[in-house]
Amino acid sequence: MSASVWHRLQARLQKSLPPEEFRTWFGPLAVESESDRRLVLRAPNQRFLSSLEEVYRPMVDRAVADLQGASFEVLFSVGEAQPAAADEPFETRYQFETFVVGNSNQLAYAAARAVAARPGRSYNPLFLYGGVGLGKTHLLHAIGHSIRHSHSKLQVKYLPTEQFVNELINSIRFDRTAAFRERYRSIDVLLVDDVQFLGNKERTQEEFFHTFNTLYNAGKQIVLSSDSSPKEIPKLQERMVSRFKWGLVTEIEPPCYETRMAILKRKSKERGHELPEDVARLLAEHVDTNIRELEGAVTRVIGYATLSGQSITADLARRLLRDVFSSPRGQPSMEDILRVVTAHFGVKVTDLQSKKRTNAIALPRQVGMYLARKITRHSLEEIGGFFGGRDHSTVLYAVDKIDRESRQDERFRELIATFLGQLQRAT
Ligand code: ADP
Ligand code: MG
Repeated sequence: MSASVWHRLQARLQKSLPPEEFRTWFGPLAVESESDRRLVLRAPNQRFLSSLEEVYRPMVDRAVADLQGASFEVLFSVGEAQPAAADEPFETRYQFETFVVGNSNQLAYAAARAVAARPGRSYNPLFLYGGVGLGKTHLLHAIGHSIRHSHSKLQVKYLPTEQFVNELINSIRFDRTAAFRERYRSIDVLLVDDVQFLGNKERTQEEFFHTFNTLYNAGKQIVLSSDSSPKEIPKLQERMVSRFKWGLVTEIEPPCYETRMAILKRKSKERGHELPEDVARLLAEHVDTNIRELEGAVTRVIGYATLSGQSITADLARRLLRDVFSSPRGQPSMEDILRVVTAHFGVKVTDLQSKKRTNAIALPRQVGMYLARKITRHSLEEIGGFFGGRDHSTVLYAVDKIDRESRQDERFRELIATFLGQLQRAT
């Protein structure tokens, strides 16, 4: 595939050079043409090209010979770099339809939908923030997809902040700041990912401020993502912080247990499999702060089971994901709690998670909720989710009730103490 020679060549060179150096020399190059025999790269000016040839030519030739064989050649030309096309494709996986909505991301999702439906006229800018792997990039791409589809005349650009920074540095280096500014003027919807990388970068902020204002004043839609709220971004100028807050600022939080289960089911289905309930529960419980990791766990388990022809069981998952599961937790898991409670009361896990309200089930369930509240860091909501989708008030009620009973009934108090003792030893 000749179309990927440049990508593969870059990957190869990236391995042999420090990132800074790689960016400096290979970042400013653009592909002029590619065929089966030859790759032509455009350098921004003659002086740059001379140094590049002198220092890096042997390395480039070696890498290309390795990748494509000795008859393939790389040539350089000199000329103005074309502006990055505004219509690069978006990740097809990252659509609204594949995004699982739960309490933790509902507002962000709704806002993203509103922006996609009426670009420039609902929230501007829309600022989404939250931890790593919680779906910010997914939502940005989803907005892009959706606008391309239903407002096909609009120019939509997805821009990782690092790319903005690199393009800007190069435009300064090669005296092209005017062209740099110009290329953002024609954009109708700008989706800027990871703006926390603007922190500590004075000159970039200056330029970004300019771009932001130009677009904003022309009624263009701006969507920003960040790993923290505007005011928590280190050394972000006050005027930027205040502009970022002009529209809507909304947080994506880590998903609760039920959402994690829904995501697991969705992801395994997308991969053509259904996870058995106990395996899904095991994963949802252990991987609780990062959806990318949750996805990685699904991929690993399904991939292995498929390749080895084994069926997917909790044991297999435990074995494969030992590294994920053995991360220091310092607290007993929900699984440990279920184990001691079901063993003592002689009930099944599925009973505890069912809607049944008979006393024989309700009491063990309440004990389970109580123990989870006392010795894990899960929220009331998560605990409720774990015990069959009950809300936080049900958990609070259970905690109160078990507290009261153990005050009044000495034997019950001892039973609870025994559970706690077993669980402390379990870790
Ligand atoms: P971030 O940009 O916040 O670090 P990403 O958008 O890259 O996170 O998400 C990480 C992975 O998790 C992606 O593969 C994404 O599709 C998936 N993901 C995140 N949130 C959801 C969700 N609510 N539903 C389905 N998949 C999700
Ligand atoms: Mg991201």
